[in-house]
Formats: sequence, C-alpha cells, structure tokens
Amino acid sequence: MDNNQYLMISAYGSYFAEIPHYFVTAPGRVNLIGEHTDYNDGFVLPIAIDRRIYATARPMYGDLVKAKSVGFDEMEEFHIREELKKRDLWVDYLMGVVDEMKKDSYDLNGFWVLFRSDVPIGSGLSSSAALEVASGLLISSLFEHDIDRLELAKIARRAEQNFVGVNCGIMDQMATLLCTEDHALFIDCRDQSHRQVPVAFSDAGFMVVDTKVKRKLDNSAYNERREQCEAAVKAVAKNKKGVTALRDAEISDLDGIAGNVDDVIIKRARHVISENERVKKAVAMLEKNDAEGFGKLMNESHESLKNDYQVSCDELDRVVEIAKETGGVLGARMTGAGFGGCVVALVKKGSEQTFADKITAAFAPEEPDSREPEEGKEADLPDPPEVFSVRPVGGATVEKLDIKS
Ligand code: ADP
Ligand code: MG
Repeated sequence: MDNNQYLMISAYGSYFAEIPHYFVTAPGRVNLIGEHTDYNDGFVLPIAIDRRIYATARPMYGDLVKAKSVGFDEMEEFHIREELKKRDLWVDYLMGVVDEMKKDSYDLNGFWVLFRSDVPIGSGLSSSAALEVASGLLISSLFEHDIDRLELAKIARRAEQNFVGVNCGIMDQMATLLCTEDHALFIDCRDQSHRQVPVAFSDAGFMVVDTKVKRKLDNSAYNERREQCEAAVKAVAKNKKGVTALRDAEISDLDGIAGNVDDVIIKRARHVISENERVKKAVAMLEKNDAEGFGKLMNESHESLKNDYQVSCDELDRVVEIAKETGGVLGARMTGAGFGGCVVALVKKGSEQTFADKITAAFAPEEPDSREPEEGKEADLPDPPEVFSVRPVGGATVEKLDIKS
C-alpha cells in the first residue's frame, strides 16, 4: 500500500468511521501543443502529469451520498434518486457525473466518498476533469458497471457541459483516462481516435510555470473565437468542397478569402490551421526524439496564440520571453485556454533550477518594502508563479481494497 493510499484510508476513517472499498486516482494533464484546435475538429497532444486527485469510497444502503474533499470546508450531501440541481459548489462535478450516469440508466445507490488532490485548482491543469473522472471511475466500480474508458470520458465531459455548464472539449477527460506512462496522447478531436506517442527525450523534460493569473478566457471571448472560426469555415467552404471545419482547410485557402472577410477572421483561422500542422510535426519530433525541433514548435505555437489568436496575456508572454533567454530551455508556450494559467516548457536536464530561479527573480517585487500594504489596507499582490517539473504518467487507476477491520 503506498503512502497516499494509506493516508486516504485513515482520513476516511476519521471523517466517516467506516472502511472504504475502492481507491481511485486520476491525474491532471498538460497539453504539450495543439491549443484551440479541439473545437475545430483538430489535433491535440496532452500528457497526464504526476499530480493527481485521490478518491476513496464505499457503497451505503439507501440513496444518500456524502462527499468530502480535503481543503473544502463542508461535507456535501445529496440523494441519488432526487432531481439534482447545480449548487455552484465543487460537488457539482460529482453530481454532474451521477446525473449523466442516471440518464444512461446505470443503477446507482448511496455512497460515502472522500477526495484529496495535489492538482493545482483552476490553473488549466484540469483538476475539474480529474475530479469528474475520479468520480465516474469510483461510482462505476462501487456499483459494478464495467464502462469502457472512452465512454467514461464522454460521461465526464457531459457532466461538465450539462451540469456544471462549461462548454469543454473531450481532451481533458480523455487524457486523464487514456494516457500511458512516458507517452503523450495524440488525439484527433474529429472522431476521438487516438494513439500513444512515446516521450523519450534523453536529456530534456517538461516543466510547468503556473502564473497564478486567474483571468480566464471568459465566455464571451471564447464564443467570439468560435464564431470567428465558423465564419472562416463558411468563407473557405465557398471555394473548396468538403470543408466542414478548419481542420479541413490549408493555409493557402486563406488567400482565396482575403478581402471577403475581416482580417481578424483570417488571423484566427491562420492560428488554427498552422497549429494543427504543428501538432502533426510535433508528433514526428517525438518519434525521432528531436527535443530541439519539438521546442521550436512550442515557441511557434506561442507566437501564433499571442498574435493571431490573441488569447495570451502579459504574464504568459513574460514567462515565454524568459524561457527564450534561458540557456537550456528548448521551447515554451502558454497551455490551456489562455488569458492566464500555465506555460509549459521543454527544459534540458540540469537547467531546471536556473529556469525556475529566473522566473522567481523576474516576478519578485522590485522593492521588498513595496509588499507592505498601506495602513488599514489589505495587501493586494498576486501570488508569485510556481515552477515545477512534470512527468508523463499513466491515466486514472482503480483498486479494490481488502481491509480487515
Ligand atoms: P481547472 O480544471 O483548470 O483546474 P476549473 O475551473 O475547470 O479549473 O475547475 C476547478 C474546479 O474544480 C474547482 O473550482 C472545484 O470546484 C473543482 N475541483 C477541482 N479539484 C477539486 C478537489 N480536489 N476537490 C473539490 N473540488 C475540486
Ligand atoms: Mg477544468
């Protein structure tokens, strides 16, 4: 029994005075390249990372669910057979999964569940998908429903879309469930077909810089991008047969629509089309172990997100600039929807600390005294960025526990 499992079982005992039956883990993920391509039927390339949500539970008589997450104050409760309503609380993700499983007529009963996590929350490393997937895997195990992993990913995604109300793609849930150790998952978002690509750079690894900036891509900016992509598709489709998404277009197709549509539409389309090309090239770089080539594509991806798709922000740009100036950093790009969140960088072994120190120094307040708030005022300073290495790990795990009381 590993330490995390041991800690979870003893914490479960103190919250519920019961012994859990199943133990589940679900990792966060970072997308190496392929941003804003998913809803354009394109390609993405995530890895699952060595930051996980842990969950443990036992079934109970009746239909009462009790759910506790370490670090979140209240014990949440709901009844499986009642109509479930969104509460604007973390438990929505769990209720969303239950709700979708009910719609699919899975037979469910009450259970008591405990969650704990070391996936940063709200940073774009997909703690939400990890929570949904951990919930789904646990519930299907507790009530002995054998659900295929791709099917479970779809249930988890529907939970986030329909119950929580976030219009997300399928990448996060697929990465959390289907990634394997030391591999990236190349996903074709048009048909969810996917393939494992080995990550075996001999002398470089990935690092994440969490800027702690939480200005997320809001719904209106996101919807605007989606509409602009649709407008580009419409325009290209007039000149070319069979174009139903930007995935079907080529850069040269944009010449044919220049002048017919706003320049900004061309820019958005250019990002998506070139990003899809970069993902395919990045897969080839992984296959031939070309870390430098991979890093170059990451830098190009960032430029495109910054200038053409315009979803970066000052802090993300600054981190990428520092990465470019640091020897041993082969490439860096914003990852996730944008306007905040994380940068992913490819860093040569031995250069990790230098890179982390440079980021810390660059974001430190200029004068230490300036951190002191004025009298009577709260300090209003952003958290400093956090820099850490990530390793491609395997997807969600489930284990039946056999604990004697
Ligand atoms: P991200 O998925 O990028 O981390 P989201 O905003 O999509 O950010 O999801 C974050 C939300 O997921 C949190 O606000 C919380 O409701 C829920 N969540 C994530 N991790 C946990 C956890 N360990 N326990 C309870 N809720 C969690
Ligand atoms: Mg999320």
